Amino acid sequence: MGCRLEGAGSFKLKKVVCLMKIIDTHVTEVIRRTEHILSVRFAMPEDDVFQAGQFLGVTLFSGGAEFSRYLSYSNSPTEKGYIEVTKRLTESDFSQAMSKLRAGDVVRIKYPMGKFTLNEGRAKHAFLAGGIGITPVRSMWKWAFDQRLAMNMVLLYSNRSAEEIIFRDDFEDMVSRHKGYKLVLSLDSRVQCPLDWQGRCGYIDAAMIRQEIPDYDQRIFYVCGPIVMVKTMVDALKSELGVLEENIQRESISGY
Ligand SMILES: Cc1cc2nc3c(=O)[nH]c(=O)nc-3n(C[C@H](O)[C@H](O)[C@H](O)COP(=O)(O)OP(=O)(O)OC[C@H]3O[C@@H](n4cnc5c(N)ncnc54)[C@H](O)[C@@H]3O)c2cc1C
Repeated sequence: MGCRLEGAGSFKLKKVVCLMKIIDTHVTEVIRRTEHILSVRFAMPEDDVFQAGQFLGVTLFSGGAEFSRYLSYSNSPTEKGYIEVTKRLTESDFSQAMSKLRAGDVVRIKYPMGKFTLNEGRAKHAFLAGGIGITPVRSMWKWAFDQRLAMNMVLLYSNRSAEEIIFRDDFEDMVSRHKGYKLVLSLDSRVQCPLDWQGRCGYIDAAMIRQEIPDYDQRIFYVCGPIVMVKTMVDALKSELGVLEENIQRESISGY
């Protein structure tokens, strides 16, 4: 069944109705983002729809065994005909199987899942992403940009090193073409910032949010990253900045 569009009028006015679906599909492209981060694209029926920010179950078949993980969509529904997932590779069997994928290989996907999606009724948005937690954020930004949604969006995006920043070109391109978009890159405190680094240094915290998002009390926050990072961010938003629970959406990327 998947998702379908219901209602009359333009694409923007239709309602997305999603029912979970399990299909076998195949790899169309493998994209090496960094030494440890890989994107894989799967063929997707043209009439299927998902919501930016959602995730799917991915099962890989390797050496007679099956390995499954949940991964977020890193593409937007406006980028049609394929699903893209982006994973940080570890020593796990799933990661090993993923790094061996080639065009034409069969994968099983269960989709779409999740409620970490844009609140399109709101005008001002703020995103706090750590590392691989950028995947659903990239999906949401690309959706809002391509759909020309009248939104003001700020992204604080933290990574261990400049080499690990994925989708930087995409975000910089969107920011350069939309005056309501702002991108702040930060290298977290486990590394010393390189001398030529133009962004922020340190973890995203309440002080950085106050400086970079002075109107934080008017925004809806989307927080995504490793479990500990999400908990720390949400605690800072609530206890130090007084952001209400109803203005915080979160997705924890388990396994790191
Ligand atoms: C809603 C949601 C969305 C998500 N979206 C994403 C996403 O977009 N991208 C993404 O990368 N992840 C995402 N995740 C996390 C993902 O599901 C995995 O948990 C994560 O990628 C880690 O999986 P893994 O197979 O690499 O490690 P796991 O098997 O979960 O292992 C965890 C750790 O143990 C180590 N380990 C495991 N097996 C071995 C072994 N045999 N030998 C040595 N060490 C081992 C690994 O190195 C790893 O560090 C998401 C999770 C959720 C719940």
